[in-house]
Amino acid sequence: MIPKLRYLLSLAFISIVASAFAEDDANLPKPELTEYYTPVPAVISAPAGSAPSDAIILFNGTDLNSWAPVKAGSKGWVINEGAMTVIPKSGYIQTKAAFGDMQLHLEFREPKAIESKHSQARGNSGVFMMGLYELQVLDSYNNPTYVNGQAASIYKQYPPLVNACRPPEVWQTYDVIFIAPRFAADGSLISPARETVLHNGVLVQYDVVLKGPTEYRGYPKYKAHAAKLPIQLQDHGDKVSFRNIWVREITLPETK
Ligand code: MG
Repeated sequence: MIPKLRYLLSLAFISIVASAFAEDDANLPKPELTEYYTPVPAVISAPAGSAPSDAIILFNGTDLNSWAPVKAGSKGWVINEGAMTVIPKSGYIQTKAAFGDMQLHLEFREPKAIESKHSQARGNSGVFMMGLYELQVLDSYNNPTYVNGQAASIYKQYPPLVNACRPPEVWQTYDVIFIAPRFAADGSLISPARETVLHNGVLVQYDVVLKGPTEYRGYPKYKAHAAKLPIQLQDHGDKVSFRNIWVREITLPETK
């Protein structure tokens, strides 16, 4: 083929393709079809290093006004240098307010490792969503245990995706998205609880489906309970500390 003819033919081909595309474009829906403007998301402020403006502060380092001991007659935990620390044998503490679907932030610090203590005996505590579903707090830095009982596990259900533990005496963070289970009026389960967790900013649980309330022995099984219940922190006999605890109640579109 002579070069000029080849050139003309390619021009013709390009022009056919371009006009086909132009025709296609005219047949496409308008971009506006899939754009909407209401409801407008609420405006909040989310300053670096502090709680979002729509968060409920559960502990800011100065008082335990938002918390109550679970055990009758217990004096609860102690505040020291902006942190609250478990007093062994004082029992669990729980929020005075109740929560269902939520985003929870907290920071915890494991006590200095005691070499004679290992596995579940080292720096054990826990965050119980609704007082029933434990996110394990444990010193899992060079401290093997059963994997679905290590730090950031959904205790006895799901091990974390990775072990993101920092050493003892270094502050760590948990950020939790918890969706409460739903029950029908007859007590049957409509939908199980779900949970996503970041440990020190690292994804460790992604939308796991909880099998029921935490059980130490035997398999978990759902039993109907209130839509909102207090958050509990565990006294497992170790001097674990907590600070900077806040929660945001969340309303998912499908639950409106
Ligand atoms: Mg525990």
